Amino acid sequence: VSARLRQAAAAVDEARLWNRHVEMARHGARDDGGVNRQALSPEDAAARRLLVSWATEAGFACATDPIGNLFVRREGRELGAAPVLSGSHLDSQPAGGRFDGVYGVLAGLEALQAIDEAELATRRPIEVVAWCNEEGSRFAPGAMGSAAFAGAQPLSTLLDIRDREGTRVEDALAATLAAGPPLRQRPLGFPLAAYVEAHIEQGPVLEAEGRTVGVVTAIQGARWFAVEVHGSAAHAGTTPLRSRRDALRSAVSLVTRLEEAMDDPTDTLRFTVGRFEVSPNSPNTVPERVAFSIDLRHPDPRVLDERARAVAALCRASRQPCEVEVREVLDLPPVQFDETIVELIERSAATLGLPNMRLPSGAFHDAMHLARLCPAGMVFIPCAGGVSHSPRESARSSDLAAGARVLGQVLFELAR
Ligand SMILES: [Zn+2]
Repeated sequence: VSARLRQAAAAVDEARLWNRHVEMARHGARDDGGVNRQALSPEDAAARRLLVSWATEAGFACATDPIGNLFVRREGRELGAAPVLSGSHLDSQPAGGRFDGVYGVLAGLEALQAIDEAELATRRPIEVVAWCNEEGSRFAPGAMGSAAFAGAQPLSTLLDIRDREGTRVEDALAATLAAGPPLRQRPLGFPLAAYVEAHIEQGPVLEAEGRTVGVVTAIQGARWFAVEVHGSAAHAGTTPLRSRRDALRSAVSLVTRLEEAMDDPTDTLRFTVGRFEVSPNSPNTVPERVAFSIDLRHPDPRVLDERARAVAALCRASRQPCEVEVREVLDLPPVQFDETIVELIERSAATLGLPNMRLPSGAFHDAMHLARLCPAGMVFIPCAGGVSHSPRESARSSDLAAGARVLGQVLFELAR
C-alpha cells in the first residue's frame, strides 16, 4: 500500500495544477489581478465549461444535480459502491482572488488524475465536485449547493431566491446549464463514503507557523445577532444633552460593553460588529435609530453558547434612555471533523515529509454540510499573509501541489 500511496503522490503534476489556476482566473478576471466570478454568472458558466473540458479530456464522466452542483467521476471496481468525494467551489466574491474555492476543485481533479495516471484501481469511485454558489454574494445564503445536497435547506426555497436584479436562482441556473454541454442529471444527497475538501487557509496561522499543511479538526460555529437601538430624533442645536434619547450614544456604549465582555485571553473567540447603520444619519439631528450586527464565533459549542447568552443578556440589560431590541438571526453550531480522516490527513502529510499542524477553520466551507452526511475532513494550505476574499489573495505553487499530494493519498486510501 505505501508504495501505491507514493505513486499517487508522485503523479501529481505541479505545473499542470498551477497552469489550471491561471486559466481559471481568466474567467471573471479583474484589472487588479483578482477575480469576479459570482455564482451562476456567464463567467461561472465559462469556468464550469473549462472544468468539464479538462475532466472529459482525462476520460472522466461529468454530471450535475437539481441545484447545479457539478460532479466529475472516476469509476471504482465495485458496482454500486458509494463514492469518496472531494472538491470545493468555482464561484468567487465580487472582489475575490484566484484560489478561494478554485483550489479545492483543481486539487481534487489533480488528485484524481494522479491516481488515474499512476494506474491505481480503487474499490470505490472517486468523485470531484464543484459546489454551486458557495460565496453567497449574489444569491444569499452561501454554501447553497452543498446545503441543498445535504438536505439542510429545501431545494424549492433555494431555487426561488433572487439576486439584487430580481433574477431567480432557478432561471440563472437554467441559463448556466444551457451554456454548457449536456450533463447527466443525478439526485441530491446520493450516498457518500467520505468527503475531503482542500482549501487555502484564508487565515495567517500556517504561514506564521511555517507549516505547509493544515489538518482541519473543526469548523467553528457562529451566532449572528441583529441589534436595534431606538431613541428619539431631535434638533442638534436646541435639545439639551440631558433630555436626549440619543440612539448612537447608547449603541456605542453598548458595543464597548460587549467588547469588554467578549475579551478572550486565548484569542480564540471572534467578535465582530461589521454593520452599523445610523438614522436619520444627518449631521444636525440627534440619531433616532441605530441598527448593528454582531458576528460571534468559536469552535467550542459550550463557549459559543455561553458567550451568545452573554451578548443577548447585555443587550437586554441596556435600556435607559433608549430601548434595545436584539434578535438572533443565525445559529450555526461548530462542526467536528471525523477523527479517522483527520488522522489520515496527518499521516499522509507526515509520510510526505510536509510540516503540518492541526487547526480549526475560522471560515465556513461546504464541508460543514457534508459532515452531516458522511465522515468528512479538510486539508488547508497556506495563503500569503492570510489574505483572502481579496484580489491580493495569493498562494505558492509548491504548496498547492503539496496539498494535492496529501489529498491524492487520502482519497486513494479511503477509496481503495
Ligand atoms: Zn471558499
